Amino acid sequence: MAEIYDLIILGAGPAGITAAIYASRAKLNMLWIEKKFVKGGQIADTYEVDNYPGMPGIGGIDLGEAMAAHAEKLGAVPVRENVVSIELDGEIKIIRTKKSEYHAKALILALGASHRHLGIPGEEEFAGMGVSYCATCDGAFFKDRTAVVIGGGNTACEDAAFLARLCRKVYVIHRRDTLRADKILQERLFAWENVEMVWDSIPLEICGQDQVTGIRVQNVKTGKETQIDTDGVFVAVGIVPNTKLVEGLAELDEGGYIAAGEDGLTSVPGIFAAGDVRTKGLRQVVTAVSDGANAAVSAQKYLL
Ligand code: NAP
Repeated sequence: MAEIYDLIILGAGPAGITAAIYASRAKLNMLWIEKKFVKGGQIADTYEVDNYPGMPGIGGIDLGEAMAAHAEKLGAVPVRENVVSIELDGEIKIIRTKKSEYHAKALILALGASHRHLGIPGEEEFAGMGVSYCATCDGAFFKDRTAVVIGGGNTACEDAAFLARLCRKVYVIHRRDTLRADKILQERLFAWENVEMVWDSIPLEICGQDQVTGIRVQNVKTGKETQIDTDGVFVAVGIVPNTKLVEGLAELDEGGYIAAGEDGLTSVPGIFAAGDVRTKGLRQVVTAVSDGANAAVSAQKYLL
């Protein structure tokens, strides 16, 4: 008969890693699954994390690796598999990957979130040909060239400041006249002389032939359309939760996030949600790790 784990954790971002650390210390018979080679989830795409206590200015990849190394020290290493479906009906939950089927009494969903797309002409067509969702991954291709960043949140500010170090010119296109990013990130961005803000503007179309050559934008106050010449477009307009696996199985909130409180309890007994995939007010590394700890402790209580 197939092994029945106490707990399966899906995801190796900060929430999943922390859940694995807590589950290991609780000596649960645990399986941990992550589809990506790189650990750390979205922080692996972040140049620098400056608000995680005790680690000022640490590189995103370094922080992810340090967290994963901590879990490994306690014996927790994720298996690298792609989960294709989940069955939550019975007391034993079934997780199917491309290669195997796993069974567990409890499940922590630390599935994270993905980049939101703009849905404008040219975006899909030029993906990887000048359109990017990760400045730290692709920024080097735009050294001494021009880049556009779209968005007004923390990611857009961090991406634009990162690109300003490399690029000749960086435009930040934002649909309002104020940024929602943390003030410290705004100040760092505005300090760059090669950064130009394009306020009150929405992107209409990403243009080019084989590669991106420009972006057409519209000022929402005047209605005026202009074209900005650029070699790259970095889209930083927020995130969407990775809930495809649980659609129709667990309750989602109006934003599409898994409905769960701080304890991680979802609408399904034995299923816990942690990190960016969960309903919450503040999505940051520090709240993700807190979620991971809470979900692991809730899972322990459930198993008792
Ligand atoms: P975000 O905070 O949701 O910001 C998204 C930005 O994109 C907003 O400025 C929004 O405009 C704009 N936007 C949304 N849809 C758009 C569209 N269709 N067209 C044009 N603009 C659009 O997303 P984020 O910056 O990716 O951050 C996600 C989460 O991670 C946040 O909770 C953030 O605090 C966190 N994060 C934290 C850090 C850090 O602490 N260092 C770093 C990165 C991310 P409006 O402002 O008008 O809504």
